[in-house]
Amino acid sequence: VLEARGIRKSFGGLEVLKGVDVTLARGEVVGLIGPSGSGKSTLIRCLNMMEKPTGGSVIFRGHKIGKSFRDRDGTTGIGTLRRHVGMVFQHFNLFPHKTVLQNVTEGPIVVCNTPRAEAEERAMALLAEVGLAEKRNAYPSHLSGGQKQRVAIARALAMQPEVLLLDEVTSALDPELVGEVLNVIRRLADDGMTMAIVTHEMAFAADVADRILFLDEGRIVVEGKPDETIRNPTNERLASFVSRFN
Ligand code: ATP
Ligand code: MG
Repeated sequence: VLEARGIRKSFGGLEVLKGVDVTLARGEVVGLIGPSGSGKSTLIRCLNMMEKPTGGSVIFRGHKIGKSFRDRDGTTGIGTLRRHVGMVFQHFNLFPHKTVLQNVTEGPIVVCNTPRAEAEERAMALLAEVGLAEKRNAYPSHLSGGQKQRVAIARALAMQPEVLLLDEVTSALDPELVGEVLNVIRRLADDGMTMAIVTHEMAFAADVADRILFLDEGRIVVEGKPDETIRNPTNERLASFVSRFN
């Protein structure tokens, strides 16, 4: 459903992505791992055009994504891509002056013109799913990191995305709060959500992903099932990388 072909990205003279291919089939969960600075965040941001690739193309539902925000001349615009490809970040990025419920209803009301009552009803169902229904009137500053991240996931889901991109969503959390967020993601995977997940949680990645991509210095060096990658790495760099997490 979402594909990157030959993605290149440079910042100034620094080439961060050197021709990367990623394919996300419907219902598939891909785990993206690799050392700090290898280009994981840049790649995942390119997948929804938050970062404009300097080469290659992004293809959504078989249509190449054009440069403009709007759909035109047979190309799909960036706006349509973002509407269907949700993203959750390491640092939550919730609207601080809005309540939990307002955070979750904002997108549907503003972007999709969903009537408020309907948006609130769906938001409450999502908040119940992530275990935060009773926090609907709280402000983000009154939530724990794990709770904020679950709100951020509910907010992304409120847009009914076809694909969800997750960039180290547990890295900023205290260890005891990681599990509650991983459980939400695991349930999404079980429900068939298509996801690309950047994570340093190796056991979780091996458990939840159908396929693992190991990115190193802007290239995908290894790609395969968790059993052939995280659990039994043959590639020397991957083996050394994975061993650091045991
Ligand atoms: P981490 O595990 O630390 O999050 P990462 O694999 O996500 O690392 P990226 O954030 O994609 O790595 O960064 C890859 C490289 O691109 C780094 O060298 C980084 O300094 C550089 N970079 C990323 N964003 C920018 C930017 N906006 N301007 C200049 N350089 C950037
Ligand atoms: Mg990163």
